[in-house]
Amino acid sequence: MTMHPVGRLPEEWKEILATRGERPFRTQQIFKWIHARGVLDPDLMTDLGEPLRQWLAEEGLGDAAHISNVHRSSDSTRKVLVKLADGVSIETVIIPANKTNEGDADLGAADVDAEDDGSTESDAAPRVDVSPGSGDRVTQCISTQVGCAMGCVFCASGVAGLKRNLGAHEIVAQVLLGKRVLEGREEVRNIVLMGMGEPLHNYEATSRALRLMTHPLGMNMSPRRITVSTSGLVPEIARLGEDFAGQIGLAVSLHAADDETRTRLMPINRKYPLAELMAGLRRYPLPKRRRIFIEYTLVAGKNDDLDEARKVARLLRDLPVKINLIPMNSIEASSLGAPDMDRVYAFQQVLIDQGYTCFVRKRRGDDVAAACGQLALLGAKPKVRVDRT
Ligand code: SAH
Ligand code: SF4
Repeated sequence: MTMHPVGRLPEEWKEILATRGERPFRTQQIFKWIHARGVLDPDLMTDLGEPLRQWLAEEGLGDAAHISNVHRSSDSTRKVLVKLADGVSIETVIIPANKTNEGDADLGAADVDAEDDGSTESDAAPRVDVSPGSGDRVTQCISTQVGCAMGCVFCASGVAGLKRNLGAHEIVAQVLLGKRVLEGREEVRNIVLMGMGEPLHNYEATSRALRLMTHPLGMNMSPRRITVSTSGLVPEIARLGEDFAGQIGLAVSLHAADDETRTRLMPINRKYPLAELMAGLRRYPLPKRRRIFIEYTLVAGKNDDLDEARKVARLLRDLPVKINLIPMNSIEASSLGAPDMDRVYAFQQVLIDQGYTCFVRKRRGDDVAAACGQLALLGAKPKVRVDRT
């Protein structure tokens, strides 16, 4: 299969354009239009000649993805429904940074640079105020697959099963299209791969998308402002660490600190049990002062025991981590649900008392069911019904 034009890296454009007898600087022009400006309509690429524009149209440049719906919630979170060329829909969520609540851990990545990495220029800015001239920060959550093969019992994507992988162009298109629903002076500050799918189960497309998004000629996102969330695919964690020299942020879905509990919630634990996962995390070439995000979805009666919290504390003892507790959002296909908030805070307190940075992730955009990481397959009926209470 040939690479969709939105998925092409500059060196690939260069080659293709050379075979068409185009001059090298066309690469930069085209790549910039697409990835720096988010323009996917060749007719709007005013500095290109008519034949080149026509060729780009024939290449299907504008056909990768379209916005088919935007749900905006009262907290101005936006869930963007993106329709792909084959008619399948995926979701991406735009989440404004909460400027009134400094301690808010949000999606994990949002504040990571300012706090952990004051060494780099712009990242040394104050965490809360938006300095003059800079935009309002938003975090965008993107999907990497349609559905997911990992089968976690509390997750809508897991229950639905894997429908298909996304191509790099479809992963990136979510960000390019997302620009169109930004408001006022908003700018995407952080990207989290926490939507539908397991990013590391679609490694080729995901890593290509990361290269595209971090390319200086395009979006030019700092890799440190991108976070890949994984259920714990150990070999691919190593690969990611190697391919990007540890610069890409890593979030790991833990959800339990003993193998029995974890396997019950996340079948992938059978393949990569906790000891292997922990060893893999220790090997991740994390830059100084950076931490791994540990996500822990709290499911009532399954993994919310305070004893489990103590086990989490023991398990993570020597790792540089930040823990995000996520009270489970109910999904249609399961009767599992979140514990009472009393229990959630008690669980958090155990970890704080053990010296961990631990946040309870606030729900954002609940009224449009936009909570990131719980992106449903709209209109798709779950394959199986999971009832394990
Ligand atoms: N597959 C990756 C990334 C997508 S899921 C992963 O599992 O990490 C992103 C996060 O949302 C994960 O931590 C996942 O456990 C969490 N999540 C999924 N379904 C959820 C639900 N119903 N309620 C709360 N968190 C959920
Ligand atoms: Fe897949 Fe992540 Fe959902 Fe598990 S939680 S099924 S890995 S998307």
